[in-house]
Amino acid sequence: MIYVVCEPEDFFYDIYMIVSLYFPYEKVIDKKGECDISSGSMLIEVSFKLNDSTVASNCSLFVKDNMTYKSIGHCFENHTVWGSKKKSVKYCIKVSVFKLLKDYTKIEIPWGILTGIRPSKIVSELKSKAVVDGDIENILKSKYLIRNDKAKLVMKVSKNSYNLLNCDPKRISVYIDIPFCPSICLYCSFSSNPIMNWSKDMDDYMDALEYEITKCADFINKHFKVDTIYIGGGTPTSLNDCHFKRLLDIVSGSFEMDGISEFTVEAGRPDTITPSKLEAMKAAGVGRISINPQSMNDDTLKRIGRNHTSSEIVEKFRLARKLGFDYINMDMILGLPGENLDNVKYTLGSILKLSPENITVHTMAIKRASRLKEKIVKNEQVQLPPAELVEKMMDYVVETMDRSGYLPYYMYRQKMMMGNLENVGYCKSGFQCAYNIQMIEERETIAGFGAHAVSKAVFLDENRIERIANKKDVKEYMDSIKETTDNKLKAFKTLI
Ligand code: SF4
Repeated sequence: MIYVVCEPEDFFYDIYMIVSLYFPYEKVIDKKGECDISSGSMLIEVSFKLNDSTVASNCSLFVKDNMTYKSIGHCFENHTVWGSKKKSVKYCIKVSVFKLLKDYTKIEIPWGILTGIRPSKIVSELKSKAVVDGDIENILKSKYLIRNDKAKLVMKVSKNSYNLLNCDPKRISVYIDIPFCPSICLYCSFSSNPIMNWSKDMDDYMDALEYEITKCADFINKHFKVDTIYIGGGTPTSLNDCHFKRLLDIVSGSFEMDGISEFTVEAGRPDTITPSKLEAMKAAGVGRISINPQSMNDDTLKRIGRNHTSSEIVEKFRLARKLGFDYINMDMILGLPGENLDNVKYTLGSILKLSPENITVHTMAIKRASRLKEKIVKNEQVQLPPAELVEKMMDYVVETMDRSGYLPYYMYRQKMMMGNLENVGYCKSGFQCAYNIQMIEERETIAGFGAHAVSKAVFLDENRIERIANKKDVKEYMDSIKETTDNKLKAFKTLI
């Protein structure tokens, strides 16, 4: 347990985020005022001084016997660049805590003090202000304390996506969430539901979805141009053939399909892909699909709760190619339980042999809502590879993808990622997924439908975003469908 005291004003959350980078499995507690640290392992005291032009922060670390370990002061004099005094204080505090803990633990955190999930957005914002690439890279390293290799990675991502960023406030993307899967993966935190428990209610779910989509589609068609459609989840192809066909009919019957630049369906689990679903997608104009192995090692697939084998992945990939799908994404995860570097080499090698247009490389994140986290809390054996090994896996993947001619084109980070690493989408030249780019860069309004979907109204001129979240729980979503739809329409009306 780590106690934090911040005086005179409370910036606990910012300190907590930095402390969690170094001690991801420790409880971090806000302990205001005098503090008995007998039940904790550490105490971090932070104070700051602010005047009109400068802010100085002092951070001290105490070990359990109340002996001061070390204290580092940090002065940030040019706070006006952050736009507000509060931002300057936050920054100053974060840097001082970061440096103190780095010194104490000797751990190199790859993304520095950056705890947000969208590093490439920082680069885009600087580019839009005409800051040149060399200066941006320096800012990433000196201001955010990002490691050299990660600064170079995010610059490459931006190079491969910046020109595709949306500038038209009238363009919109449609996202539809099908929050059901054939089984729940060990690491899943997406509130996905085992489809077999919902077969009786699936007609009701489709009715709710149809109501929500058709009520909004008229307004969307009248005032916006639909740019991309993305059906995700969950695993949309876990619907039976009949419900799946109905879903595609609802979509193509509701939106103006002429001029859509991209239509993606996540067909993530090969055990849910059938020839008739592939044919239905072709007929509906789906151009891009995802077939996600995560690992090509059968022991791992079993361990993480996926009811398919690696040979089924290859079989369904070939079937999709045969039926004309020439734009396929495949996901893989680094840091899966029981995996070593050779397993990752095998997975990546097997995927590269299939030559998909996109490969998305995820780092395992241990999310609060997952069964994996539950097992860790209960001290059950989960065989997670150590963070240093996951870093080696990532280094291997980065080097191999580069050698194989794939370009990194979008990226994001999540909380509790092993080794504090990242997720990166790679593509063959010319195959950047437009939806992924706009979604991560938050440059296009997204109309989200279905349980768990989040809509985002993007006010490009004001650099402002409004989130409208549907209920996560499937029953609650169905019960509140009218209210959900009205709220979304109300928010979108403010865009015109
Ligand atoms: S396929 Fe994705 S959404 Fe479904 S259980 Fe696995 S991690 Fe969750």
